[in-house]
Amino acid sequence: MVTLAAATTTNSFMAQYLVTAGPTWEALDPVRFLSNRSSGRMGFALAAALQHRGHEVVLVHGPVALTVPTGVRALPVESALEMLAACQSVWSACDGVFAVAAVADYRPKEPQQSKIKRHPNQGLVLELAPNPDILGTLAAVKGSRLAVGFALETEHGEAEAWRKLEAKNLDFLVLNGPEAQGAEQSQVQLFAVGGKVCPLGPLPKDELAAQLLQHILPADS
Ligand code: C5P
Repeated sequence: MVTLAAATTTNSFMAQYLVTAGPTWEALDPVRFLSNRSSGRMGFALAAALQHRGHEVVLVHGPVALTVPTGVRALPVESALEMLAACQSVWSACDGVFAVAAVADYRPKEPQQSKIKRHPNQGLVLELAPNPDILGTLAAVKGSRLAVGFALETEHGEAEAWRKLEAKNLDFLVLNGPEAQGAEQSQVQLFAVGGKVCPLGPLPKDELAAQLLQHILPADS
């Protein structure tokens, strides 16, 4: 009888990959936060596809309404600072990172300890502090390990893709359009460090994840 493990683990090299997924929540006070529309679907699909290929996966994810794929080790977090700490706690044991999380660029500089009161005739000015670049921080010390980023751009997508590939010291960058947010399927362009560009999709996110891995990790196909 062929077991599921034997059927799916056909690769000869088993590695451990870190995947980040979902949004981050940046607290304003005990009940409110700043965030974005990320569902986490693409990151979870990639984690499942890596696991399906026989790799070990650590999935560091923000708040999402998704089930962690069987066999994947999940580290749930809320904020960008928590996501950075969780990633740094496992990065030295990993062979590569797929950063799919939609990390909030800014966080409230001083979250309030109690609920901010409403003043009907007065506006509210928030002071924000920049969040650290999690992928940039990990990739800066990656050595020969794999670093893959995702980017969602509303304009100048291609130029931004090449810029981020270099600025963050990545091997690959996956460029999404804004229609990918929360959607069941997605269409992307895969930019590789040597100058190659490959369009993929539109495809359901689980099929897209499998296709991305065929390009990014062809040796274990
Ligand atoms: O936001 P940006 O377009 O720079 O995101 C590109 C890549 O960097 C994505 O893979 C995202 O997960 C990652 N990133 C991160 N930490 C941030 C911002 C982005 O890891 N603070």
